[in-house]
Parts: sequence; structure tokens; C-alpha cells
Amino acid sequence: MVNIILFGPPGSGKGTQSEKLVSKFGLVHLSTGNLLRQEIADKTPLGLEAKNFIDKGQLVPDEVVIGMIDTCLEKHNEAKGFLFDGFPRTVAQAEALDKLLSLRKTAISKVLALDVSEEELVHRLLERGKTSGRTDDTDEGVIRRRFQVYRNETEPVASHYAKAHKLEHIKGEGSVDDIFEALSGRITPFFLAKVED
Ligand code: AMP
Repeated sequence: MVNIILFGPPGSGKGTQSEKLVSKFGLVHLSTGNLLRQEIADKTPLGLEAKNFIDKGQLVPDEVVIGMIDTCLEKHNEAKGFLFDGFPRTVAQAEALDKLLSLRKTAISKVLALDVSEEELVHRLLERGKTSGRTDDTDEGVIRRRFQVYRNETEPVASHYAKAHKLEHIKGEGSVDDIFEALSGRITPFFLAKVED
């Protein structure tokens, strides 16, 4: 299996690039943000609980998102690989993911981190908030809070994978197509390696 984590702060383009990458490489897209928004739309108890955290710019508790990922891995046990988008966001989630994958005799192949300046991120999120219908994108205070959470809780996830020599940084500013080419170039070798095996 080829398992990729697309890593980066809110607004770095993970969602946009994930859509394109899963269609190119035939991976299953696992976005915890999308899964949580679906739970909210369906008004499930999990969704109602999650909404309180999301609206404040806080993270949903680890056990909730880890449980969702476990269910999805189980549901797609025939997949040729996964693209994780917005997960893991804490070191505890990263450790849980490593375990869930190892139970399935697989592992993370690569973590691709999109680098974008904070001013550009705020600008992109406020623009997205005009049309996305996402309440967490319209309030600059909530956006700044999400960056603070990112720095404190999510950035250590990059170090977790750097230690395993799996982290690579990609410039996340420029055209969508150029960024997509840069990301694709880092993923293609894993598929070529599989053919040669
Ligand atoms: P996203 O669409 O990835 O920006 O996620 C939107 C919001 O959902 C985040 O600000 C968090 O409140 C919540 N969320 C998404 N993924 C996770 C995760 N892996 N762990 C905790 N909370 C998450």
C-alpha cells in the first residue's frame, strides 16, 4: 500500500490538492474535517459534540477522530492506499495511526508538508469563508486560534515523522497546478517501486 499524509496548516491547500491527488493515484481520501462536517450535517451525536470544538477553533478529542479513522480503514480494507488530509493533528493521533497501520501490515510511506506564510493563510481562509459556508472560516479570531492550536499541537507531528525520515517540505504558494506537480513527483516513485518489486 502507498499511504501518504498531506500535512500543513489550515488554508495551506490540503483539501484542493487531495482531491486532485486521489483522482490521479487512485488512493482513498480520508479527511477528518470532511468526515466531521458530514456528521454535523447528519446531526449525529458525534457531530453535535464535534461542532462545539470546531466552532471555537479547537481540536476534536483524539479518541473521536482515531475511532473515525479506524472505521474508515476497516471499511476500505481493499484499498491500494490512503491519502490522509487533516489527520493526524496531534502526536497521540500519529502514534495511534502508526499502530492501526502496522496492525494491517502497512505503514506511512511519506508525509508531504505544504509551507505557506501565515498572512497568506489568513487571506485564503477569509476568502474561502465568503463561499464555503464554514463558520470556522469567517471569524479572524477563530482562524488565529486554529493557527495557535496548529503550532502547539500539530507541528510536533512533523517532528514525529522527521525522526522516521518520512517528512518532506513542499512550497505551498504558487499555482495549484505547480504545487500539484511537485506533490505528484514525490508520490510517483512509490508506485514505480511497487511495479519493480
Ligand atoms: P479541517 O477541515 O481539516 O480544517 O478541519 C476543521 C476542524 O475540524 C478543525 O479545526 C478541528 O476542529 C476539526 N478536526 C479536523 N480534523 C481533526 C483531527 N484530526 N483532530 C482533531 N480535530 C480535527
